[in-house]
Amino acid sequence: MTTITTADLASRELAAPGRVVIELDAARKTYRTGDIEFEALRGIDCTIREGEYVAIVGPSGSGKSTLMNILGCLDVLTSGRYVLAGDDVERLDEDALAAVRNRRIGFVFQQFNLLPSLSAAANVELPLVYAKVAPAERKRRALAALAQVGLESKSGNRPGELSGGQQQRVAIARALVTEPTILLADEPTGNLDSTSTEEILGIFDDLHAVGRTIVLITHEADVASRAQTVHNVTDGRFVEHGAEARQ
Ligand code: ADP
Ligand code: MG
Repeated sequence: MTTITTADLASRELAAPGRVVIELDAARKTYRTGDIEFEALRGIDCTIREGEYVAIVGPSGSGKSTLMNILGCLDVLTSGRYVLAGDDVERLDEDALAAVRNRRIGFVFQQFNLLPSLSAAANVELPLVYAKVAPAERKRRALAALAQVGLESKSGNRPGELSGGQQQRVAIARALVTEPTILLADEPTGNLDSTSTEEILGIFDDLHAVGRTIVLITHEADVASRAQTVHNVTDGRFVEHGAEARQ
């Protein structure tokens, strides 16, 4: 099997609305703890196109975070295939995998994961620091990302000075600042009250409207119903494919 390097990735970054960005084929994940095996993903097929807003919904323990870790290239399948933006993830070398995690995937977590001692702008800049972008360019892009989530006026504030909804908006800006192929959010409203939840879902609506590809993972059906496509996951399987929740 030929290995895909970072140099190969660079030539594949061009956006093309409607192209397939995620393809899972008979995806299986088995966890092994000593002698005990647990099949967390039991054969998932899924295609996600550029610009799609997809929700993956299911109860606790159904395999959502396992699937998020696979889609985010934080873990690997036991069997089956995962093709991200045309590249078979299994073939990526270590540097290419790191580059994919940094640039192609924007992660949003339930706990925000912001650094408390840094300003909102400095938090948003972090992925660009890792990507070795020059300081002036980092600042410019961080402010533009904060503007996208309506928070340019809070760029100098630390997370502790912001509401939960605002902190999650900073985390979304941080996820967007590298211009990722997909935005991957695991229970992004799980720690938020209903007003802040609405604030975050409104941002996702706006991002969808401008052509972002979003994968939203949640256990709440009403949160999932905001997406364009809903996949229901139970016991590591999709039980219903591509139900159109909303136009
Ligand atoms: P969800 O996010 O939907 O709550 P998870 O993907 O976290 O579900 O977990 C799915 C199943 O896999 C659960 O039964 C969980 O106990 C099991 N599981 C998750 N991670 C591991 C692991 N590292 N080792 C063993 N079992 C795991
Ligand atoms: Mg989970």
